[in-house]
Amino acid sequence: PVPLHTPERQVDDPDAALRPKSLREFIGQEGARENLKVFIESAKSRGEAMDHTLFFGPPGLGKTTLAQIVANELGVGFRATSGPVIAKAGDLAALLTNLEPHDVLFIDEIHRLNPVVEEVLYPAMEDRALDLIIGEGPAARSVRIDLPPFTLIGATTRQGLLTTPLRDRFGIPVRLNFYTHDELDLVVSRAARLLGLDIDPQGAREIARRSRGTPRVAGRLLRRVRDFAHVAGQGTVTKPIADDALTRLEIDRLGLDAMDRKYLAMIATTYKGGPVGVGALSAGLGEPRDTVEDVIEPYLIQLGLLARTERGRALNDAGWQHLEMEPPATGGG
Ligand code: ADP
Repeated sequence: PVPLHTPERQVDDPDAALRPKSLREFIGQEGARENLKVFIESAKSRGEAMDHTLFFGPPGLGKTTLAQIVANELGVGFRATSGPVIAKAGDLAALLTNLEPHDVLFIDEIHRLNPVVEEVLYPAMEDRALDLIIGEGPAARSVRIDLPPFTLIGATTRQGLLTTPLRDRFGIPVRLNFYTHDELDLVVSRAARLLGLDIDPQGAREIARRSRGTPRVAGRLLRRVRDFAHVAGQGTVTKPIADDALTRLEIDRLGLDAMDRKYLAMIATTYKGGPVGVGALSAGLGEPRDTVEDVIEPYLIQLGLLARTERGRALNDAGWQHLEMEPPATGGG
């Protein structure tokens, strides 16, 4: 089962109903929105496909949602797949040759493309052409197939995970940032409205503050709080109800869950505050390194609890304070 509080997508995606459908409805990410608006309008007025676009940022911040919105606003078709799903060059070729002119092809987790598939993507992005090898051995020959103009939208957690040739082929890189409490307040209120749930402003605020800067987490916490309110026979979600439910779910006042605290406590106790390499932390927690780097750490860094240094991860003063622990006295006093 997917842990409650991680921003990983669930298979049967309960967020789907909550996805905003237009740029106007999309909350926050003002810089990204303003830029996309310009690129969308310009592509439309020129009657061309929009440039290839890369969305990067932690999971659950709205990359998939924005890609769908871009297609909606352009008035073109939307096809979605993900890096690990495209096993062979032929799979990608099938996707690309089935696109209508100006369609958006969305590839989630694009950093996980198989290198052979990635090679096929380069000429497709650059020259709108597929170079396919037909046959084997001495009889093999290469054929070039022209593709319709299309927009590739890639999504990844960190821009640095892409190979340089792939990264260079995106005309429009867009970074998504954690949401502010005010923005998440709007996300929670909007989701409550769509779910037909009564929530007062302080209740919404409490959920917003504890959502790890992430709309997907906000939606998930709102649904859990709704369950608690329902079982308690409460019609309206208030701050005490939200607080009680989130505390039972072991989500603290900063929005950290049990895994976040385990991570911080491991650095504090086992590694005396660090620095410690991410490999050791990942092994100690029994979590994949990707999860540690893409899900756990970015928010702790954003909160100023953790520092990423040359020599590894280290707790900041705020990290010690949050654990209610004292840093060890340094030698020489
Ligand atoms: P990502 O692709 O970055 O992992 P998604 O686009 O799947 O994230 O977003 C996760 C969920 O969060 C969406 O289904 C949607 O319900 C909600 N969401 C994301 N961004 C926003 C936003 N700006 N406003 C409102 N809801 C949002």
